[in-house]
Amino acid sequence: MTATNEKPATKPVVLTCAQPTGKLHLGNYLGAVINWGRMQDDYECFFGIVDQHAITIPYTPADLRRNTYSCLAQYVACGLDPSKSHLFAQSHVIGHTELAWILGCICPLGQLERMTQFKDKSRKQESVGAGLLYYPVLMAADILLYNATVVPVGEDQKQHLELARDLAEKFNRTYSPTFNVPEAFYGRAGTRIMSLQSPDSKMSKSDPNQNGTLYLIDPPEVLRKKILSAVTDSGSEVRAGDDKPGVSNLLNILSAVTDRPIADLENEFSGKGYGDFKKTVADAVIARLDPVRQRYEELVNDTAALDQIFKSGADAAQKAAYRTLSKVYRKTGFVERPR
Ligand code: AMP
Repeated sequence: MTATNEKPATKPVVLTCAQPTGKLHLGNYLGAVINWGRMQDDYECFFGIVDQHAITIPYTPADLRRNTYSCLAQYVACGLDPSKSHLFAQSHVIGHTELAWILGCICPLGQLERMTQFKDKSRKQESVGAGLLYYPVLMAADILLYNATVVPVGEDQKQHLELARDLAEKFNRTYSPTFNVPEAFYGRAGTRIMSLQSPDSKMSKSDPNQNGTLYLIDPPEVLRKKILSAVTDSGSEVRAGDDKPGVSNLLNILSAVTDRPIADLENEFSGKGYGDFKKTVADAVIARLDPVRQRYEELVNDTAALDQIFKSGADAAQKAAYRTLSKVYRKTGFVERPR
């Protein structure tokens, strides 16, 4: 076959969604965003900033708008590349809520009521909106709308991905084969980053002690101060182990930001104290994050550039979304919209 007769190879589709929650921390970066960036050459990647999910709990509209721009700027600064991937806002694409409605009509209510995240989040609210219960159906629609084959997820989203798989299978059985049944992608093991102040808990933006959380856009002097005051363990040996959660976490961070194995780092610091070690961790984290913060600062106030990225992402996402939606509407029995 000549080259001109060859169909261009289509890449498998990856869908990743993240709420516009404000500042990303080092755990988000090393545990998630870096992995997403690595997929861009081998997959057709849709990165959705899911603003419609963000309104399922109490929020402030002005913050949501600011955080949506800020998140886009942070993702681009981290290496998600609008010339390779589709970065879009969920509310810019017609189809997410439409497909969610149809999937909701085949979704058993009990399955939604049993979702751990719904139970956790609703316990914390005085009044629980129906949107919070419906959230996993909207997430299933986000995934199925693009016929994603791979979905990078954290542990906390495992149950929601299971629901998306169940709904895809149920729709396929009820109507006719339509959706891929998506697979989870868990990324590289060992990139669970813990709080610098309480290394038994995950690094998190909701940590009451914010000195335990390193944000990508923290200025270098703030990163340094937080790392130098990280809790360490008794003894003075720099080695990883269950009895040394603080030092293990810092070794894990140093290993991830320098791409060096932990055993090498243990050798390098053998006989040296915690002071030297923490200084090296601080220098390495700052060196890794400085270009990210600088790129973020250039971008975040350039609303025109961010709008352009949103527009090209939404254009591509909308094309794919309409393709799925029209197929689904036809199978569901809706009369075709008169032209
Ligand atoms: P969140 O905003 O907490 O839902 O996190 C978004 C993504 O970042 C999830 O997919 C998690 O897998 C990842 N993530 C969050 N916190 C950490 C952490 N401390 N260590 C590693 N990965 C994390």
